[in-house]
Amino acid sequence: MPNVAASTTQPITASDDVIRAALEEAHVPSLMMALVHLTGDASILSGDIQLDRNMFADPQAGIPPAQQARVRELAFEALTRLRDEGRRTLAPPSHDQLLSMMQFLVGEVTSPDYVTFLESELAMDGRDPYGCPAIQAIPRERRATFHVLIVGAGMSGLLAAIRLKEAGIPFTVVEKNADVGGTWFENTYPGCRVDSPNHTYSYSFAPKDWPQHYSDQKVLLDYFRGIADQFDLRSQIRFETEVSSARFEAATNEWQVELHTPTGTETLRTNAVISAVGQLNRPRFPDLPGRASFTGPSFHSAEWRHDIDLTGKRVGVIGTGASAFQFVPLIAKDATKITIFQRTPPWISPRAEYFQYIPEGKHWLLNHVPFYAKWYRFWMFWRTSEGMLGSVKLDPSWNDQRHAVSAENDAIRQLLTAWITELVGDDKDLLAKTIPNYPPAGKRMLVDDGTWIRALKRDNVEVTTDPIAAITTNGIETKGGALHEFDVIIYATGFQASNFLTPMKVYGVDGKELHENWNGDARAYLGITVPGYPNLFLMYGPNTNIVVNGSIIFFSECEMRYIMGCLALLMTRGKRALDCKRDVHDAYNLSVDAENARMAWGSPHVSSWYKNKMGRVSQNWPFTLLEFWTRTREPDPEDYQFS
Ligand code: NAP
Repeated sequence: MPNVAASTTQPITASDDVIRAALEEAHVPSLMMALVHLTGDASILSGDIQLDRNMFADPQAGIPPAQQARVRELAFEALTRLRDEGRRTLAPPSHDQLLSMMQFLVGEVTSPDYVTFLESELAMDGRDPYGCPAIQAIPRERRATFHVLIVGAGMSGLLAAIRLKEAGIPFTVVEKNADVGGTWFENTYPGCRVDSPNHTYSYSFAPKDWPQHYSDQKVLLDYFRGIADQFDLRSQIRFETEVSSARFEAATNEWQVELHTPTGTETLRTNAVISAVGQLNRPRFPDLPGRASFTGPSFHSAEWRHDIDLTGKRVGVIGTGASAFQFVPLIAKDATKITIFQRTPPWISPRAEYFQYIPEGKHWLLNHVPFYAKWYRFWMFWRTSEGMLGSVKLDPSWNDQRHAVSAENDAIRQLLTAWITELVGDDKDLLAKTIPNYPPAGKRMLVDDGTWIRALKRDNVEVTTDPIAAITTNGIETKGGALHEFDVIIYATGFQASNFLTPMKVYGVDGKELHENWNGDARAYLGITVPGYPNLFLMYGPNTNIVVNGSIIFFSECEMRYIMGCLALLMTRGKRALDCKRDVHDAYNLSVDAENARMAWGSPHVSSWYKNKMGRVSQNWPFTLLEFWTRTREPDPEDYQFS
């Protein structure tokens, strides 16, 4: 496993001019943290340079230019000294010093666990933050007797394979597609890109010098392909192979798995199954009358038809979620006319750097300044996720729950409304269509630099909010009686997210199929284990999605560390299967439901793919990311029955 510690930054050989130019691109708050590491002197944190945490959108957190220049000058001195005196070991800050660094950066730290988390993330001792020491303590020959099947070779499946390989546990990966990459393999629509900051959207052990702040699909797919090559995983992946069913046999404590392979069906026996199939890969088409009658081409955004040239075409787009948001501005340049059928507008958060390339100087800083990249990653983690949680929490005393869930949520609403209003300008009709009437973060907030609204203002783009009545042979008919004629219809209507693990059939100890048990309301303990289904582990399972833009890779790394802990528990106890206790699972789910009901996305005024047909939020994790990190550090044996 590559070392993720700061020593992985490259030695400094650059000229003074190059260093000075790079510092101009610095994220000054992260640079200040790096300065403390470089100098061992934390006095800068108690000086006059302080962050203004109310500066919501300012990447420099309100530090005035003159003070920024002072920080750059100090950093220049420290970096040139490091260059001239040669590389040396930097003394790690003490626990208390780290706490004050963190408080300086993000304000009041509510839990001491944050410092433990940060210590682990910074990996100053060179330890792998998501490694599982317990598994390494088990004799290698015992590890070699336990086989695991991983379903899926996307982001989570590759991670599972890397960790199992590292532990010397035999495994097989099956992947329905012809290559690795999962969602990044399947979604090839124009404009597809990551919408969490890229420096948090990467494995902790495989940081990358990303070309953009939010890189595009090709770059992401290349990253995951590169990971498969770097860790030599391809020989253990069976491509174009799907699991049709998995059945647990209590007599042998094994799973019997039926596979559809390119050459027929096959049975595989394994000790454990890790489902890494994702939540968002089975396209969902709306249940509209006449859908099959349309005579022109129609397709889902996740199954993009690159063979269809949209130049000069009249195109109907159904949906205004994250996918449509990314491809509409691009296809609008070629199509004659685009009509967007919108049911609910998205909230949009301004992100000036959304399409920007990372400047040369910033690359240099990330690659050369010890701990700078780590703190930058932590800043992103906080700014886009952890630090936002308070503002999406419901305050029962707030009286306009339809539009915002608290005063803080309302402040965001006003800020975002002002931004959209400024972008839309004097088009009152468009303004009425683009300002959401539900609380910010009720659905996934989209980030943008204004491109979406500018696309909607184009002469060849129309937004209609008239609900769709039917699809006809030549277009779309609305309930208001209009018939829109199209050459092509694109469904940007999302995925069957709450049908976890479909279409696989999974039979547990009592022979009952998992989906029958769930009855449309999927639940799991920590999103990972399900009572009655021993040695079945879910990655990106129920209630492990996030709404504010944190990285789902973070969840997968926590989940995999926990799964390795479960395997270690089995092996140290000489057991072959573990099964989550029902009461533990139920109590956990009650707490998750209660907390989700207190979040913007749990609001009764919001409908989204986060809720299942019962109306329960089955997708989202409502607590802090720290809480997930803490709860999944290692399994509690008391939560399981062993056999
Ligand atoms: P989505 O967010 O579920 O959006 C589906 C859209 O289709 C919604 O606007 C929905 O309206 C609309 N819709 C569904 N049925 C309709 C009907 N009968 N008439 C009119 N409109 C209809 O799907 P998505 O955009 O594919 O995104 C899904 C998730 O994938 C995202 O939330 C995100 O987590 C992920 N994603 C991420 C990225 C990224 O990171 N770059 C990109 C794409 C997707 P309502 O809102 O009214 O239901």
